[in-house]
Amino acid sequence: MSHITWTTETLYEELKSVTLGGNICLYTPEICETLVPKINRINTLKKEKNAIILAHSYVVPEIVRCVADYVGDSYGLSKQAKNTTADTIIFSAVKFMAETAKLLNPSKNVYIPGTFNGCSLADSITTHDIKQLKKKYPNYVFMCYINTTAAVKAECDVCVTSSNVYDIAEKIDSNYIYFLPDKLMGKNLINELKRRNCHKTIRYWDGSCYVHEEYNPEMIDYVRLKHPNISVLAHPECSPDIVDRADYTGSTSQIINHVKDTSHDSYFLLTECGLTSRLQTEIPNKKFVGTCTMCKYMKANSLDNIEAVLKSPTEAQNISIDSETRHKAIHCIEKMFELAE
Ligand code: SF4
Repeated sequence: MSHITWTTETLYEELKSVTLGGNICLYTPEICETLVPKINRINTLKKEKNAIILAHSYVVPEIVRCVADYVGDSYGLSKQAKNTTADTIIFSAVKFMAETAKLLNPSKNVYIPGTFNGCSLADSITTHDIKQLKKKYPNYVFMCYINTTAAVKAECDVCVTSSNVYDIAEKIDSNYIYFLPDKLMGKNLINELKRRNCHKTIRYWDGSCYVHEEYNPEMIDYVRLKHPNISVLAHPECSPDIVDRADYTGSTSQIINHVKDTSHDSYFLLTECGLTSRLQTEIPNKKFVGTCTMCKYMKANSLDNIEAVLKSPTEAQNISIDSETRHKAIHCIEKMFELAE
């Protein structure tokens, strides 16, 4: 709700249901009092600069609930970036996502607030790696997860997100797919295609998300012991062991819709804790058993660096992509939109 003027009371009311336990997610009236002036200044600055803030669900609740114009997963954010009429896009997430916004909006200013940019998946593969792989596997279609740099996308045939990876792999007009960079999603892809009776040869790169690979089946067993009727929801970046034990697996948007559409006693989300915080504020009448597993890259976004980038962006915060890379990478993203629709 970036259109309203916040007060300490309204902000505390909005965020008090966040109860994951980490200091970063502790909202007392005193903390809310310090946040309110920053939030209101950001919302005023946005109007003055004709800027929008796109935020991933994994960033902190005060960004998600109070200054973001759109909150979503990679696919939803890409679509918003494609359709916006704003002059400036502030991408409160990680760098590869801001690059996707820039690819879709080359004439707009796209800035990333945090300077601690990265992602353990996107950083796991380089263009040199892909060129080598293409020599080794010349008959394969190269399908990249959206968690890749623009330069890596430029070397691939089609991009996917966690919400459309299985459907697009099924639709691709080839029986040979090289999926990169997430090995855990690659294994889940193989299992899901088998379940769908779709016979394709899938190879995958050795990357992983350092947040999602931490979950282990014992965590689920322990939580189920304590909460026998709990519904366990996992992200496809988790290992197949987790996906097999979960009651539902989906992208962050799919998980949100699933929670909204079902009525279990409680939910245990095996994904970055920002999603649980988001749901605790959006659906306060439902119970969530939290995991405090933070992505250091997503949590590098703050009200302070959003305000700073709106006032005076630095060169390091400006996303720029050379025209040759853009030309090749956009094809990879457009192919995803074409196959996903
Ligand atoms: S949660 Fe994992 S995949 Fe997402 S940005 Fe962080 S490191 Fe990358």
